[in-house]
Amino acid sequence: MTDFCPEIPRYSIYDLHSHTTASDGLLTPAELVERAVEMRVGVLAITDHDTTAGLDEAEQAIIKRALPLKLIHGVEISTLWENHEIHIVGLGVDKENVVFKALLEAQTTRRRARAEEIALRLAKHRIPGALEGAQRLAGNAAITRGHFARFLVEQGVVSSLAQVFKKYLAKGKIGYVPSSWCTIDEAINAIHQAGGQAVLAHPARYGLSTKWLKRLLEYYQQAGGDAMEVAQCQQAPNERKVLANYATEYQLLSSQGSDFHQPCPWLELGRNLWLPGESVAVWHAWPEMLQLADE
Ligand code: AMP
Ligand code: MN
Ligand code: MN
Ligand code: MN
Repeated sequence: MTDFCPEIPRYSIYDLHSHTTASDGLLTPAELVERAVEMRVGVLAITDHDTTAGLDEAEQAIIKRALPLKLIHGVEISTLWENHEIHIVGLGVDKENVVFKALLEAQTTRRRARAEEIALRLAKHRIPGALEGAQRLAGNAAITRGHFARFLVEQGVVSSLAQVFKKYLAKGKIGYVPSSWCTIDEAINAIHQAGGQAVLAHPARYGLSTKWLKRLLEYYQQAGGDAMEVAQCQQAPNERKVLANYATEYQLLSSQGSDFHQPCPWLELGRNLWLPGESVAVWHAWPEMLQLADE
């Protein structure tokens, strides 16, 4: 967590999962923190995919505009577990930690290799120029599937982002390339080395059966995971309650986050984020001035 402590409004919201142009978000870090404040978010974690490159700009924007927002230094690390891509969010990380930095650098290398392979596969299916196109959309950031998706929509290959994933980029489709992401254990270790807390991201979004989800939670807890996401902006009815019960069962803390990528009607920073009554929040042991935001 950073030293800079602006005054946080008493009744503000925690949003502990969000993206910027440093990965596959559409808002710059400065735009994101502005929007967070507009949405009455008081504590925001920026958790870009396998990078912390957006944090400095966000921090500077907060200072420059004296925004009433506490920025949590975060990341979302892609891991591979039992052939499933599982995302682990790190909260309160020291982005300069050597072990942590080395892990993110390795992930960036894997991302590049995967992007090249995705582009080759698309080219074989008569969609040329995808690597250059995705990189243009990514700017200086590493290429994610989100950038390929936007490129394919831009080219008129498909009509929507959801369609791109369904037809080209989801597991088993022609543009899907399994990546050799780090393990869950390596991600948790790097986050802990950097002084952060590990949070299992969106556990209900991996398409796992109950049996496999429980296996994942068991594995994750044994590996030293601290918390899991329980509340998101958009969830199936009952999902929040079910996840809160799992958090209790597997002795994990609970977290909440919008996973905001871009302005859109059905998902917003800070919206609908609350934890069921019995949950122990991931921030319960954070410094007092941060807990204030939860009152
Ligand atoms: P990557 O980390 O490069 O594999 O990209 C994963 C990102 O792609 C996720 O974080 C989402 O932003 C996006 N994504 C994955 N699946 C979908 C989907 N079905 N529809 C829209 N975006 C998706
Ligand atoms: Mn994403
Ligand atoms: Mn994710
Ligand atoms: Mn995310």
